[in-house]
Amino acid sequence: MKLCRFVSTQTGLARYGRLEGDSIQPLAEDATLENIARAATAGPTLPSEGVRLLSPVSPSKIICVGRNYRDHAAELGNPVPPEPLLFLKPPSAVIAHEELIRLPRQSARVEYEGELGVVIGRRARRLSDDQDPLSYVLGYTCVNDVTARDLQRQDVQFTRAKSFDTFCPIGPYVSDGLDPLDLSVETRVNGQIRQRARTSVLAFPVPFLITYISQVMTLEAGDVISTGTPAGVGPLQDGDTVEVEVEGVGILRNGVGSATR
Ligand code: MG
Repeated sequence: MKLCRFVSTQTGLARYGRLEGDSIQPLAEDATLENIARAATAGPTLPSEGVRLLSPVSPSKIICVGRNYRDHAAELGNPVPPEPLLFLKPPSAVIAHEELIRLPRQSARVEYEGELGVVIGRRARRLSDDQDPLSYVLGYTCVNDVTARDLQRQDVQFTRAKSFDTFCPIGPYVSDGLDPLDLSVETRVNGQIRQRARTSVLAFPVPFLITYISQVMTLEAGDVISTGTPAGVGPLQDGDTVEVEVEGVGILRNGVGSATR
């Protein structure tokens, strides 16, 4: 299933839908992430072109993993840490497919980071080793962990560099039935490939990350774990178009614009 969220033209409210070919089948208005696999469909099918997509989920938090690909850690002169290096992006940074990434005036070096996103489907708290972490997953999506690299280097920790409004494109869909241990992740800027890797080389694979993070903080339905970025990070300029493609999910596309007042 490919899950999306869109703005209903009738009510102006957010609505979940299932992508079926080139169409979106709306789900019942009372559908929640916890019951979405069983949610009834409601209303006429819509052509996917012409529907304004929202980010497929509204996470209470986005938990990111730093330096999870050896080649990316190396390109920034860092070792892979002995345990996952975690940091957060705020929900206020989330934007949808086709929304603009805004370059903040405080930074002279904003970079893309294409990543596999894991979307949690039900509350996960202090999972033990005999619990299946993948049973807590709703599906997988594309994330762009946009980063003000100069501020990341300047500050002691990552919060400011990772948290500007628009710095967390997510989407366009959440796909289930994928094997997170071996998916391709690719990033393109203006059509040119900049990053390409498979999740099979992650230092800390997805099941390990879910259990590890759940032992630190309760994961809620809709929360997103962004699993780290491969080598090839680089700058974004006003007017660029950046795409993150995760195998089996689709293409998350965002334009880049200058700061708003
Ligand atoms: Mg990242």
